Amino acid sequence: MTEKIIDAIVLKSQDFKDNDKIVYLFSPAEGKLSAVLKGVKKASAKLKFAGEPFCFAEFCCVKRGDMYTITNAYQKESFFEIRQDITTFYCGASALEIVSAFGAEGFANPSLFVSLIKTLELLVQGVSPKKVLAHFVLCVLDNFGQKPCFERCVECGQKVTDAKFCFDQGGVVCKNCNSDYAVPLDEGVRKVLVNLSVLSHDKLATYKIGEVLADKTIYFLNDLLAKNFKKINSMTQLLQL
Ligand SMILES: [Zn+2]
Repeated sequence: MTEKIIDAIVLKSQDFKDNDKIVYLFSPAEGKLSAVLKGVKKASAKLKFAGEPFCFAEFCCVKRGDMYTITNAYQKESFFEIRQDITTFYCGASALEIVSAFGAEGFANPSLFVSLIKTLELLVQGVSPKKVLAHFVLCVLDNFGQKPCFERCVECGQKVTDAKFCFDQGGVVCKNCNSDYAVPLDEGVRKVLVNLSVLSHDKLATYKIGEVLADKTIYFLNDLLAKNFKKINSMTQLLQL
């Protein structure tokens, strides 16, 4: 029997047996980890909060056989306010789903964890959620060495304006190198992506982009994730609001 005490955020949970849930956690030291939360659906359950997405807590987990069981949890910070606004909720849910899709079980990724926590803090603070989500997507792609190049042509290295985007090559192509597979990329969106790529979380609140441009940026990033990595359902739902 191995006991672990970890700080972690709940990415998602699913019903398990009559009264239990399987909780999918993301921690800086362990990466993704799933654990059973027993009896959580009973009215008297004390650890209900520990099975809710957006819960950030210290979890005590005990391993029996192949599975971890959560024996106790202490809430550290609540990001549940994110659920009070529908757009903010879907942006937060997209961030959790992206970590679920990209993160690996048992692999430490402290910088991705910090990025997720800072992103959820900005959402709680009411910073425009689509801008925060777009920034997070770029952070994740960067974390996994997959961030596209938006500033210079992937073929010739020249700085671009009014470029097209090539999903296969993972970046923009200039007019001279135009590829048959490249699709138009709105110049406003490209500039937003260039600017967001170099912004730290702390500077994000003061960087302004209009609602229409934020929508177009999310639309593009949703397409990029779906084509090159994995479809993020919450992000698709966000675009349908
Ligand atoms: Zn070129």
